[in-house]
Amino acid sequence: MRKSLILACVLGFTALTVPIAAALHWASREALRVELSYAGTVADELLRRAIAARQQIYLALDTLGPARRNACSETTLSLMRELSMGLSYLKDVGAARDGRLMCSSMGLYRQGIALGPSDGRVSSGVRLWRDVVLPYAPGLHLNLYEREGWVVALQPDLVFDLALRDPDTTVAVLLGSPPMVIQSRGPYDPTPLARTSTVTAPYLELADHLLVLRHSPENNLTALVAIPRTGLGTRTQEQALILLPLGAVAGLLLVAAVALATRQRLSLPAEIRLGLKRREFHLHYQPLVDLQTGRCIGAEALLRWRRPEGTPMSPDLFIPVAERSGLIRAITDYVIDQAVRDLPMLLAQQPGFHLGINFSAQDLEHDGSVTQLLRRLREMQAPAGSLVVEITERNVTDARAAAKQIARLHDHGVQVAVDDFGTGHSSLSVLAGLELDILKIDKSFVDAIDAQAAASLVLPHIIDMAKTLRLLLIAEGVETETQADYLRERGVQYAQGWLYGKPMPLEALLDLLRTQGRAWAPRGRGLMPGTDHA
Ligand code: C2E
Ligand code: CA
Ligand code: CA
Repeated sequence: MRKSLILACVLGFTALTVPIAAALHWASREALRVELSYAGTVADELLRRAIAARQQIYLALDTLGPARRNACSETTLSLMRELSMGLSYLKDVGAARDGRLMCSSMGLYRQGIALGPSDGRVSSGVRLWRDVVLPYAPGLHLNLYEREGWVVALQPDLVFDLALRDPDTTVAVLLGSPPMVIQSRGPYDPTPLARTSTVTAPYLELADHLLVLRHSPENNLTALVAIPRTGLGTRTQEQALILLPLGAVAGLLLVAAVALATRQRLSLPAEIRLGLKRREFHLHYQPLVDLQTGRCIGAEALLRWRRPEGTPMSPDLFIPVAERSGLIRAITDYVIDQAVRDLPMLLAQQPGFHLGINFSAQDLEHDGSVTQLLRRLREMQAPAGSLVVEITERNVTDARAAAKQIARLHDHGVQVAVDDFGTGHSSLSVLAGLELDILKIDKSFVDAIDAQAAASLVLPHIIDMAKTLRLLLIAEGVETETQADYLRERGVQYAQGWLYGKPMPLEALLDLLRTQGRAWAPRGRGLMPGTDHA
């Protein structure tokens, strides 16, 4: 009981925490997805514009062609005007000589405008001057690209003028490989990153920033968007506000389910007690067949419980609960009462009929159950020799007490069978100390006959041993003719299993005995229909 309570508490705690933890995890993943999607949209647009600007730069340079001596002729100036007017990202197009801008679409500069040292090469033959302010356009910050004396002035603002969600978003364009930051705007400095190879990744999670990168290998361009991780925290909180209540509700529902299941588990002994009072238990009988003649010579009483809501519950489930909660004595008394009450009817139909009933551990530890059995036999004037008590080694916790109870049964002519022999519940150690009459071979050994499994090697030894000890043998769980033939050939006397009949109500068993009385049934074949109705 204590164990179940602890288990229930652990289950309840898990049921509550797991959905909440899952909701939090989901919230942070969802927040990351939202942030990456925002940064990705910005990066896509930035890359699109950067590519367009680059294409315009090259278009202008290509149109102007190779270097010319009369680069500032009227015809060339008018071509420059056409280009700077027609290409949206370009502000000006001009010609330079010896590091000085000599003319542009805006006119001729007699002395020329000194360009100073360039910031580097962006591709073969193209040099770049960043953030240049020309004297004839004082308010404009331009990037100048020069090839073969032709100069193209680009206004980066036109590329970077994006509608951003947060002002602390950093946008940058990297060009060439190794990449060089040609323009960056925002609090994050991408210069150190540009020097590392990680710049090829689609996104990066840095200590304080989330980075999304979009690449255009054919243009040698990379658009970078950096957003502070603080935004991720805010977004996680927003998502958690939606998901946490859902997680909490799921957790509470699970806790309720655990509580319900636990209550049902905890209250099973109470239900058994009530079931006994309301006589919800009854016996079914599984036929026991003589393997030589195929006739039903007895039956095993198996308890059935039909609960008020109509659902049957297997004895494999409720018998262990009854054993643990001290209710098994009451159950055994109930079984004894019912079996001994039914016995005269069975004997009337077939003299010499044998009825087996199952005893549990506690039934052999004290006088009570045996005393009750003997008393009921006396009251019903039923022959004790028609009863077989089935025990397993599991039942024999106190061998001396069990030996005493078995002796009492023997004194009155009740036979004793060892059940589930060979499963570990019963073994040689039981046989050694106790006076037994019958050995029931467990179903697992019978199954092994068909399967040719290793267990089938053990079966002949069990049979030989039983013969040496002069024990009668009953094979349990016989389902096929092959199994029956094998057992019969090796001298096993009795069998029980679905081949002959499932556990059935008393009336069905009486019908079967009646039919059998009228006609001698053929050996072991389809003797009885299976009717295990609880
Ligand atoms: P058990 O005493 O070994 O009973 C035999 C079990 O094998 C029964 O299950 C029976 O229905 C099943 N069986 C019989 N022939 C076949 C077959 O050919 N194939 C298959 N697959 N199964 C077969 P059941 O009735 O569910 O009982 C399970 C266990 O519950 C019993 O095993 C016994 O240990 C316990 N039990 C049942 N009734 C009582 C009772 O009145 N008192 C006590 N203490 N235990 C009982
Ligand atoms: Ca049994
Ligand atoms: Ca058994």
